[in-house]
Amino acid sequence: MPLRIVLLGAGVSGLTTALLLSKSESYSVTVVAKHMPGDYDIEYASPWAGANFQPMSSALNNRWERRTWPELSRLAASVPEAGIHFQKSRVYHRRKDFDAADAPFGPLFNLNPWFRDLFPDYRELAQYELPEGMHSACEYTSVCINTAVYLPWLVGQCSKQGVVLKRAVISHIEELKTMHHSQHHVDIIINASGLLACRLGGVMDCSVVPVRGQIVIVRNEAETMINTSGTDDGATEICYLMSRAVGGGTVLGGTYDKGNWDPNPDPKTAGRIMRRCLEICPDLANGQGVEGLSVVRHGVGLRPSREGGLRVEADTSAFSDGTLLIHNYGHGGWGYNGSYGCAERVVELVDSFRTGLCVSPRALSN
Ligand code: FAD
Repeated sequence: MPLRIVLLGAGVSGLTTALLLSKSESYSVTVVAKHMPGDYDIEYASPWAGANFQPMSSALNNRWERRTWPELSRLAASVPEAGIHFQKSRVYHRRKDFDAADAPFGPLFNLNPWFRDLFPDYRELAQYELPEGMHSACEYTSVCINTAVYLPWLVGQCSKQGVVLKRAVISHIEELKTMHHSQHHVDIIINASGLLACRLGGVMDCSVVPVRGQIVIVRNEAETMINTSGTDDGATEICYLMSRAVGGGTVLGGTYDKGNWDPNPDPKTAGRIMRRCLEICPDLANGQGVEGLSVVRHGVGLRPSREGGLRVEADTSAFSDGTLLIHNYGHGGWGYNGSYGCAERVVELVDSFRTGLCVSPRALSN
């Protein structure tokens, strides 16, 4: 008899976890979610992501990304219908950010990053290749995911493997105990509720906070993905662009605004995003400036960030009747980057439960 699992959440974290679990005949999985692929909603982060694989973790905590990269690159190389393609990526380190007292925006901008060993064609740019004002830059081939294609592809893969997906709004985690499609009691509940973990009864994790990201999607195409270490437009503004696979347009970003729940795109911010992207990549509009950009959509998504970092662990004390609760939420701005690494960890925890081994959180090695 397979173990019955109900998984809350149909974002990239929940669907990737459901897919990996469904590969074993030992598990029967129901996914329950308020939002499903195809929806655009401020409570649902996954459709708004760029999304590209740009390492965000430190060298000490890179397990999730290191383990995700091989699968995302395999999909880009051999599964075109997943909507992922390879694209050259440039990370620029502005001279003024490196001269400033504050460290630049995260490990992506380290001068000697751990991921130099991850990408076979990683290289540092020569001084003569740098645009004006840059201290240095690196370049490598990464992937960009068309989320509008990839999330439905995940649903299709899950469904092919026998996962059942249902829409529902859950107030308390206990409610999931009666929601397995077999209508029998569940053995394991998995919580991949993203940002809403802060409001979910039985979890109410107040260390989960939104980090607002405003974007503009345009029809214009860019040959290279670009990230810069900072902007001149204030601490909450960042600059990046990437072209999505299979006609997904180019995502121009962005903002990184902690604690801000505002779902509405701000036109002035959008203007600054477009201007910055054109400054770093004038070819995007063939030199015509903002007038040369053809806008598909303005958007806002909320990165599900968590003070103290991601929560991927088993909570053996959550229920008194022996049902196991496993969490997989709090991925901030790197949910795709870490999706397979985190899902694989959930499978390890589920396997341990099935075989009667200890499931308490343990130190993880890379
Ligand atoms: P979500 O996608 O938010 O899914 C949560 C799911 O849980 C939904 O289905 C929701 O309906 C369901 N749910 C929650 N509570 C309930 C409830 N009570 N009842 C029923 N259902 C419930 N990441 C990258 O790796 N690369 C990028 O380039 C990147 N770019 C980004 C750009 C922007 C602008 C933003 C906003 C994010 C970006 N991210 C990126 C981050 C990435 O989008 C998130 O880390 C990821 O989508 C989180 O996925 P999730 O499945 O955990 O949460």
